[in-house]
Amino acid sequence: MPKKIIIAIDGPAGSGKSTAAKNLAKKLGFVYLDTGAMYRAITFLALRNGIVDNPIAVIELTKNIVLKLKFENGLTRVFVNDEEVTEQIRSAEVNSKVSEISAIAQVRQEMVKIQKEQGKNGNIVAEGRDVTTVVFPEADIKIFLTASLDERAHRRFKEFQALNTNITFEEVKANLEKRDRIDSGREVSPLKKADDAIVFDNTGLTPEQDLEFLLEKIKEVLNK
Ligand code: C5P
Repeated sequence: MPKKIIIAIDGPAGSGKSTAAKNLAKKLGFVYLDTGAMYRAITFLALRNGIVDNPIAVIELTKNIVLKLKFENGLTRVFVNDEEVTEQIRSAEVNSKVSEISAIAQVRQEMVKIQKEQGKNGNIVAEGRDVTTVVFPEADIKIFLTASLDERAHRRFKEFQALNTNITFEEVKANLEKRDRIDSGREVSPLKKADDAIVFDNTGLTPEQDLEFLLEKIKEVLNK
């Protein structure tokens, strides 16, 4: 059987990881894994259960739920114990708490276990904050995707506007900055460039240009 290929993409919020990973998965016929959606689902539940500031209760919750991701028609649908939470996990409230929840070591342990399992199923494009360093350190291709803070904030702001969310550009930018600070500064699995990752700054580039660059890099690496 041919070897399974793992493509791993990390980077800060709004760097276009999801779009790039989805486009790559579609083009290559690979499975797409959105690891951020999993941390978002836990955060949504913790908020709803009123335990978001209680790490012990959050760990307990994480151990007792069944989390499922289904990638369909360009969208990652997220289910917790068979309840669909796809839309709810993208709220501004979840954005404001997800980095605190994902800094809890035992929460990460549980999520990484599930993510590694997904990697066994076949060719995969995974994206997140630690997929190049912790989840798939053996990945065939590692990308660290980034862009300027202003550009990333503009991208996220447009997404919120499309959803008619009542939030200002400054609020979006402040949330990105805060998440990046927590994600990069935490003790467990901080966001950082893996030594062997290719850095790609896509400031000013379109998703189509991102895809073109990434396909070229993948070809180069796989032909070596
Ligand atoms: O990628 P996304 O913006 O949906 O991720 C939401 C949050 O989930 C990140 O800001 C980070 O705190 C957390 N996360 C993480 N590790 C991952 C993916 C996401 O800590 N692999």
